Amino acid sequence: MKTSEVISELMRRFPNEPEYHQAVEEVLTSIEDVYNKHPEFERVNLIERLCIPDRIFTFRVSWVDDSGKVRNNMAYRVQHNNAIGPYKGGIRFHSSVNLSILKFLAFEQTFKNSLTTLAMGGAKGGSDFSPRGKSNMEVMRFCQAYIAELWRHIGADTDVPAGDIGVGAREVGYMYGYYKKMAREFTGTFTGKGLTFGGSLIRPEATGYGNCYFLLNMLATKGIDIKGKRVAISGSGNVATYTAKKLLQLGAKVVSMSDSDGSLIAPDGFTQEQFDHIFELKTYMRGRLYEVVDTYPDLKYYERKRPWKLVQCDIAMPSATQNEIDGSDADALLANGCFAVSEGANMPSTKEAVHKFLAAKILYAPGKAANAGGVATSGLEMAQNSQKLSWSAEEVDKKLSDIMANIHAQCVRYGNEGDGYVNYVKGANIAGFMKVAEAMMAQGVL
Ligand code: NDP
Repeated sequence: MKTSEVISELMRRFPNEPEYHQAVEEVLTSIEDVYNKHPEFERVNLIERLCIPDRIFTFRVSWVDDSGKVRNNMAYRVQHNNAIGPYKGGIRFHSSVNLSILKFLAFEQTFKNSLTTLAMGGAKGGSDFSPRGKSNMEVMRFCQAYIAELWRHIGADTDVPAGDIGVGAREVGYMYGYYKKMAREFTGTFTGKGLTFGGSLIRPEATGYGNCYFLLNMLATKGIDIKGKRVAISGSGNVATYTAKKLLQLGAKVVSMSDSDGSLIAPDGFTQEQFDHIFELKTYMRGRLYEVVDTYPDLKYYERKRPWKLVQCDIAMPSATQNEIDGSDADALLANGCFAVSEGANMPSTKEAVHKFLAAKILYAPGKAANAGGVATSGLEMAQNSQKLSWSAEEVDKKLSDIMANIHAQCVRYGNEGDGYVNYVKGANIAGFMKVAEAMMAQGVL
């Protein structure tokens, strides 16, 4: 297998899908040497079967807005690979959603889920519908119309969706409710459900907390204490807010948060009171970050700017969206002394930025390792649902922390470059790949 040849062929067959090509190229570049030591993989063209999704559902969702107007959105579910377990991956509702983005996310999810050591294949779904500015009833009607089409293709042992950008507890509740009505069953077909109907404690916190646990493991390899360290975060949604919450508990200073309108900077770190205000505003009131300066005029708000060049940080935890750190952002971070990047979002760093982080030999954890705590806890929710049991918050949190330590250990095992530097990108990709590849080999050509 030659990465460049596989990529050229994918680009020819699936043009105009840059995010998908980017994600595949990153993984293939890391696994090429290992793959080529296994001629049996090549004999069954394993790489192509692993790169091209098993199947994709594409459909139109029509719904009626509050003024009575009929709206149409495009919607998808990409079932990428189920070699090691049922398809599993979130649903994203955002105006930018297209097939390229969902194919990249489903591809990444396959390796991430493998890394968790739980039995979950990879999938992703979504729509170019944006919940922003919509009423609860509009969101509910859209979710029901989306599931009216998708419900036949998902199930507790088939394909288990969850949240992602634009899909939180409210949307999961509406989708699960409609799924339950159509399928006439009450099973663990969605994760991220409310606590009263099968949700797991710590699932909302899991991606952000998990990223912090991964970061602690990385810092421990260098004997660095998190206390007092300056951490820049992007985003202010599920992942970003729980990352900030855990960092404050750990004694770190959170110096930024952002949304798609701009960045909020706290040069000396948000106080607990300021963070509680932001958490309340973003989690329960669907407010915007620029409103925060009305209450706290000492904080600085920069319209349409990402945080990376606005404030000095020791650690960056991008937690908003893909390709939100480009080459020049990476240069600025490195020049300002940033020594660790731990990704809460999926593929938030461009290819150029990743090269710069690796070349500078800083601690750099790709999303598929660092943010795997979310799906891992979804796996724990599935386990609780199938046993019809609920575990305590302490129990789930302990399992989450153990899983993150295990993912870190796998990255170190496969990513150790011999000179003491751990290439977490290589480590995560090889560890995730080997398990899926072995399962595919055992199951024949499908
Ligand atoms: P949310 O919708 O809860 O929050 C997303 C945040 O990112 C919001 O602050 C949003 O701003 C901002 N954002 C979204 N798109 C853009 C954009 N194009 N430019 C700038 N800012 C943007 O999503 P999550 O927190 O759940 O997800 C964040 C990231 O983490 C995604 O990459 C997701 O795939 C990844 N992830 C999430 C997991 C989970 O468990 N939820 C698990 C693993 C990874 P605004 O409010 O203005 O839209």
